[in-house]
Amino acid sequence: MLAQAFAGCFVATHVPIISIAAYVASGAAISAQAILAIILLATIAGTAFAFVVMRHLLLPVSELARGLKSYRVEGRIPRLIKQRNDDVGRLTDEVRALINTLEEKLNRLKRQAFSDTLTGLGNRRWLAEVVGSEIARSRREQKPLSVIALDIDHFKSINDMFGHDAGDEVLVAITETMKRVLRPYDLVARLGGEEFCAFLPGTGLKEAMQIAERLREAIAALRIETLRGRRITASFGVHEAHLVREQFKDMLRIADEYLYQAKGDGRNRVQTIEARPAVIQTAPAGASPPEA
Ligand code: GH3
Ligand code: MG
Ligand code: MG
Repeated sequence: MLAQAFAGCFVATHVPIISIAAYVASGAAISAQAILAIILLATIAGTAFAFVVMRHLLLPVSELARGLKSYRVEGRIPRLIKQRNDDVGRLTDEVRALINTLEEKLNRLKRQAFSDTLTGLGNRRWLAEVVGSEIARSRREQKPLSVIALDIDHFKSINDMFGHDAGDEVLVAITETMKRVLRPYDLVARLGGEEFCAFLPGTGLKEAMQIAERLREAIAALRIETLRGRRITASFGVHEAHLVREQFKDMLRIADEYLYQAKGDGRNRVQTIEARPAVIQTAPAGASPPEA
C-alpha cells in the first residue's frame, strides 16, 4: 500500500512539470500566460489524480469502519471481503478473526448464562426470553398457552438420606422424564433448585392438565437405583394463560400459586383453578408405594 501511495503521489506532483516539458518540446511559442494556465490546469489534474489514487487505497478502510460501526451499534456481523493483499487486506483479516473470536466467546457466555449446567435445560432467564415471542405468537394466532409448574416433593430429605449426588441424579431423571412426556415444541426450564416449569404452546387447560397428570405418573413411576426403592413424587400447578391480561411473570406466579396449593393439599398431585378441591390423585407425601 505504501508503494502504491508513493507512486500515486509521485505521478500527481509531476503532472505540472511533465505538462510544461511537453509544452516546451512541442515547439509552440512560449508565453507567460500559457505557462501559468498549463501549471494551473496541471496542478488541478495532478491533485484530482492523487485524490483518486488515495480514495482507491483507502476505500476498503472506510468499508471496514462502516462494518465495525454496524457491528457495534446493531450487532450485525459485517461481510468483510479481503480486496487486496496489502496492509488493508491484512487489517481486514485481523478484524474478521477478532469478530469471530468475539462471537464465539459471546455465544459461549450466552449459553452459560441461559442454561443450567446440571440438567442442560434452559433457566428462568432463557425462559423469559423465549416465552416472550411465544406469548406474542399465541396472542396473534389466538391460540391458548398453558403453564405447568413442578416442584419435587420432599427433595431435601432425598439429599439428606442419599447425598447430594443422588439428589442431582433425581434432577437429571426428572429432566429426562419431562423431555420424554412433553412435546418437542414445549418450552421446558429449570427455574432453580428442584422447581421446573413448562410452557405449552397451543394447549388449553384441559389438555395441559392431562399432560401434567401424565408427567406426575411418569415421575412417580421412576425407579432410581441409588434411592434404594424410595420413590420420587412431584406436585404440579397448571394454569392456562390469559393472553391479554397476563405477562410471563403473572403466568408463572399463578401456576406457582396452584403448585403451592397442591403442596398444601398433600403433594403428588396436579392443581389448577378448576381442579380444587377435586384433586386428581393423592398419596402420602414422600411415601414409597410398594414396588410393582
Ligand atoms: P417440598 O415438598 O415442600 O417442596 O419440600 P422440599 O424438601 O422439596 O423443599 P425445600 O425447599 O425444603 O428443599 C429443597 C432442597 O433442594 C434444598 C436444597 O438443598 C436442594 N437443592 C437445590 N438445588 C439443588 C441441586 O442442584 N442439587 C441437589 N442435589 N439439591 C439441590
Ligand atoms: Mg420441593
Ligand atoms: Mg422448591
